[in-house]
Amino acid sequence: MMSKRVFLDYAATAPLLPEVHELLCGASSGASFGASLLGLGNASSLYREGRLARETLEQARLNLAEVLRCSPQELYFCSGGTEAAGTLVEGIAHGALEKFGKNQARMHVLCAAFEHHAVLNSALSLKRLGFEVELLRPNREGRITLESLESALRPDTLMVAVMLAQNELGTVQDIAGLAALAHSTGALFVSDCVQGLGKLPLYLADFGVDAACFSSHKIGGPFGVGAFFLRHSVPFLPRQLGGGQERKLRSGTQDVPGALGFALAAQLETAAFAAGEGARQALLRDKLLADLVTASNRIRSTVPIAAGNITSHLPGHLHLLVQGIESQTMILKLDELGFAVSGGAACSTNSLDPSHVLMSTGISKDDAYGALRISLGRNTTVEDCSRFTKALLSIL
Ligand code: PLP
Repeated sequence: MMSKRVFLDYAATAPLLPEVHELLCGASSGASFGASLLGLGNASSLYREGRLARETLEQARLNLAEVLRCSPQELYFCSGGTEAAGTLVEGIAHGALEKFGKNQARMHVLCAAFEHHAVLNSALSLKRLGFEVELLRPNREGRITLESLESALRPDTLMVAVMLAQNELGTVQDIAGLAALAHSTGALFVSDCVQGLGKLPLYLADFGVDAACFSSHKIGGPFGVGAFFLRHSVPFLPRQLGGGQERKLRSGTQDVPGALGFALAAQLETAAFAAGEGARQALLRDKLLADLVTASNRIRSTVPIAAGNITSHLPGHLHLLVQGIESQTMILKLDELGFAVSGGAACSTNSLDPSHVLMSTGISKDDAYGALRISLGRNTTVEDCSRFTKALLSIL
């Protein structure tokens, strides 16, 4: 009998939650909103089908805003984390230029060196507009310290971009502390919260961020949907121009079923983690790590993880450095054995270069070649982890 395939790459994408599937594809689609998705019109149309779509969209926005504890008026739907990140970073820079002009605007941008390329490349692209873009190096433990930000901030720093949870390492940053520090010098603070949504308490009001981005498919929602939070007070110029949907900040007909599914996934994932899923995944993570490092001295955790920690390290996330074997080899051999894991960010798996994230923390190229990311999810069981441990050991 073929044994069950084990998916351990939830940080790349989380399988659609059954409840979201039922909502979008089941016979009773949309029933909880009193509307059939089949009958939805364009959310900008004035007639009944359009109004129905608008109501459904606004309900989704309310639901997501409730999870994030932000104002629904400051939450905008778009096509995913990449678009959200680019929109924010570029839109804030263009907004500052338009409001203050090149001579008066703050022209210095700080960006964590380990940001996802969606943020990193958007920030670096600002050089073309005349901005000075400086990268903040994390420490060896995968964290941007308050001290490093303090010494990098300048009177002309326009914005600081630091992500909530690092997508390769799993480390969680002190966003509230970093944002407060940035604000003390008048800089804006942008945070990519894609990997933290659902898995960490994410109260935007407490964080004090000016802008944040989110993605649906990372939490069991549909692909191709995301959102960004942007404070009204931030000078901003949208990058996608068109019909002026999403209160003029993100043109394009809204994906109403997508938004609905995304909001439901965010509600379900957040509720599950609050009810103990985070602690459950942390136990699995800790056991997996303990079993692996006890069995082989070629395996180590890339960053230190305190056992049971669910707030400063993502609960179900483990990043390993394995000596004497390359990431790609491990991934393909494990795939043959029935396991889906990654070597780093999903978008970089085709690259043979060591990850910019690992390089930024000071890990040597040699060590980085043996990188392995294991990210657990709601369906991961103790047996899955034990089988994975045996499988990884068998290929070393
Ligand atoms: N930011 C982070 C931290 C991510 O992990 C990802 C996905 O890999 C993204 C942004 C991009 O999100 P999306 O796949 O929705 O474009």
